[in-house]
Amino acid sequence: MSNKNTFHLVSLGCAKNTVDSDSMAQLLVRDGYRAIDNPNQASVLIVNTCGFIGPAKEESLRVLGELAETKRDGQILIAAGCLTQRYGVEVAQKVPGIDGILGTRRWMDIVQVVTELRKTPHPEPLYHLPEVKTVGADEHEALRVSVAGASAYIKVADGCRRPCAFCAIPLIKGTAVSRPIEAIVNEAKKLRDAGVRELVLIAQDTTDYGHDLGLKDGLAVLLEQLTDSVPDVDWIRVMYAYPGYVTDRLIEAMATRKQILPYLDIPLQHAHPKTLYRMKRPSNIDWVHKTLGKMRSTIKDLSIRTTFIVGYPGETDEEFQTLMDFVEAMRFDRVGAFQFSFEPGTTSAPLGDPVPAEVKQERFERLMEAQQAISLQVNQTYVGKILNVLIEGFDNGISIGRSYRDAPEIDGMVFVEGQAKVGEMAPVRITGAMAYDLTGSIVPQPQVIRL
Ligand code: SF4
Repeated sequence: MSNKNTFHLVSLGCAKNTVDSDSMAQLLVRDGYRAIDNPNQASVLIVNTCGFIGPAKEESLRVLGELAETKRDGQILIAAGCLTQRYGVEVAQKVPGIDGILGTRRWMDIVQVVTELRKTPHPEPLYHLPEVKTVGADEHEALRVSVAGASAYIKVADGCRRPCAFCAIPLIKGTAVSRPIEAIVNEAKKLRDAGVRELVLIAQDTTDYGHDLGLKDGLAVLLEQLTDSVPDVDWIRVMYAYPGYVTDRLIEAMATRKQILPYLDIPLQHAHPKTLYRMKRPSNIDWVHKTLGKMRSTIKDLSIRTTFIVGYPGETDEEFQTLMDFVEAMRFDRVGAFQFSFEPGTTSAPLGDPVPAEVKQERFERLMEAQQAISLQVNQTYVGKILNVLIEGFDNGISIGRSYRDAPEIDGMVFVEGQAKVGEMAPVRITGAMAYDLTGSIVPQPQVIRL
């Protein structure tokens, strides 16, 4: 039995997609729909797909296929998101039973698509894939946020104008479009009023924020305005910085404004200049050394996360060894790694995908193994220190939360003895360290701590 005016939405992929999913959900709720967990009972099924790399595409097709198979008469299945923006027709051909295709740049059309599909039966899928440049969509008045507990992602821009040769995101999302500062500040105030304690600013490249608005040093300007406007939000975290665009003003803001967490997420992708050159990424490793050195000496307790790609076309043993040496020397707090995944249509396509899968796997394992030992050593330096931990859950007598070093969903956790209130910022003395996570116990008396 399907409940009229109910929807079931599956959000796949990254936090940026989750924000789009939540914005679609808000528009539907405003139109009288209700979100439900059980797909069998929903009148509208939506999958917000991810098209980032091969495995993500396969997962999106699998989820769509499963819903299509069990779809009943009268139910509507809509495929939205990155995969459909780029491969809408192919997705509809591969998964018979899809009624509507909505591109990621048109998430704001969700109510219109649902209404059209429910009004008249469509023997063929209805496509909403207009070629538009803008993805900001503040005029639709849906919050561009996704809230989980006391933490919220705010999308500050969408799309990307960088030329990275391996990446299909600019083909999917179009060029970067920043949201006005006022819109972001207003959302931050609403989130603050709702009890949110951590704002996580996201975009494909946050360091490019405001360029299209004519702002110089846009991210620093945004952070200054945010910290002035919501001084009572405990943490403001910035994700996805691009090498070469971490400016002195940004470093200054991070160093002096207490709410901005001393956490830098800067995907470097590689460390050999030739590999970076083939990737069409900034290849000036001196800049990386200088800037990260400057940040470490200016920003107290800075925690750095980065990401690398192994097995990029043409990556020699020597190039990979340079990456390994770099990782050993830089001692990042966290490292994520991907094995190169060939994306048709990207500018790396002519290079093909010549590194054998077993070589990619072996390099991936070596890199992650080396980093695990480093992460453990870095984590061990926190034993005995007191960190503020944002409590997010409780299980088997243990409270679970994150410190400033842990971005939601991608970094580690802090496991805290005893029960603390969910949503509370608890001072925790760190008592143990593992490669990814820390353990600790709550400090009974309030103590003056920085983070
Ligand atoms: S910065 Fe590069 S890797 Fe990141 S979304 Fe833009 S093009 Fe892709």
